Amino acid sequence: SRSDITHFGAGPASLPTDVLEEAAKALLDYNATGLGIAEHSHRSPLAADIINQAKADLATCLDIPDDYEILFMQGGGTVYDSGQFSAAVYNFVGAWVARKHKEVFGDTQGDPADHPELIQQLKQAVDNDLRIDYLVTGSWSQKASAEGERLLGSKHINIAADARKTNGGKFGTIPDESNWKLSKDAAFVYFCDNETVDGVEFPGFPKSLEPGPDGNGPVVVADMSSNILTRKIPVRKFSAIFFGAQKNLGLTGVTVVVIRKSFLPPIISQPSVALMRHLALPIPPVIFQYETIAKNNSLYNTLSIFDVYVAGRVLKKLLQTYNPNKVEAQQAVTDKKAQLIYDAIEAFPEVYKIIPNAAVRSRVNICFRVTKGGEVDAAEKAFLQESTAQGLTGLKGHRSLGGMHSQNVS
Ligand code: PMP
Repeated sequence: SRSDITHFGAGPASLPTDVLEEAAKALLDYNATGLGIAEHSHRSPLAADIINQAKADLATCLDIPDDYEILFMQGGGTVYDSGQFSAAVYNFVGAWVARKHKEVFGDTQGDPADHPELIQQLKQAVDNDLRIDYLVTGSWSQKASAEGERLLGSKHINIAADARKTNGGKFGTIPDESNWKLSKDAAFVYFCDNETVDGVEFPGFPKSLEPGPDGNGPVVVADMSSNILTRKIPVRKFSAIFFGAQKNLGLTGVTVVVIRKSFLPPIISQPSVALMRHLALPIPPVIFQYETIAKNNSLYNTLSIFDVYVAGRVLKKLLQTYNPNKVEAQQAVTDKKAQLIYDAIEAFPEVYKIIPNAAVRSRVNICFRVTKGGEVDAAEKAFLQESTAQGLTGLKGHRSLGGMHSQNVS
């Protein structure tokens, strides 16, 4: 039964039992309405309340300022289903083109086709200067960069750092910032704050991406799918942060985007479809336009309100458990759990080997090999069998890496 096991699976991860019990009831009959929560219209006031409350509680937990919007979207992060990995490209390349358009066109109005010389100038700017900078520190940032390349072509993709290059072809480190090759005016710099598969976490916000004294800095987009709500984040230093809910927030099926409102029109107007066609740049599906989702309070199409409800219950529980502290209290718990596990692993160096470099190892996904006797495969098989028998489940590492892997969920 649930109480007999401790589940370490990275995602979908375990949820608090009381949240699930409450959710199970809500699925049958929500607030004595006679109708389950998944049967109520996503256009009902009840659905809007659930969304607004979850947004407010997330903002409280993470100190998200008022000039940031919170979006609930679908599609995850992955290259395969083209969720946020592509949405980030579409939206922030759109914002970059809108900025350049302003520089080149000034107040000139009208159809882009009426100004062939200006369009030519803009096209040249795109051809020469449009870049996305990716910091590749593990398999998820690598996949995100592959999606950027699929959408834009390799000439617009700058791999500003690749951890494998200085680590024998393997992930497990974060290259020294002095070796990063950042572009001058990148559409955005992308990194994955915690690499779930490889167990590598940025220790803090990168120094070379810090805003200057005027508050202006590079456009920074981060994937925080696996470490959101495990530490305080300097939200203002990011233009956007996204995370799938299924690890630390709720159920599979909903992805959250926290985005600076200045990246939503009308402050920077998105380039028109006609303009993007002239520039041979990809035109986003409407469902991936942050502006569209923001304008509709995440209800442009049929959002799973049940998923938002579960995320909302997890957030409420976090706030109630740690009141008056917010994510800082969860951070202390996460840090302590990680320390306990790393200490236990390190106490037996002849049995276990931690994969990533100590300075950047994840507090959330602890990746290690079982090496006893030199027979890694046999030792790991025995370790998994024995741990499962003791009720420690979901410890098997990602299929691409082997070894062991744990997600110490909140
Ligand atoms: N980013 C990170 C850091 C992840 O761990 C995952 C999923 N494990 C994803 C993105 C992809 O999420 P999804 O499968 O929901 O697309």
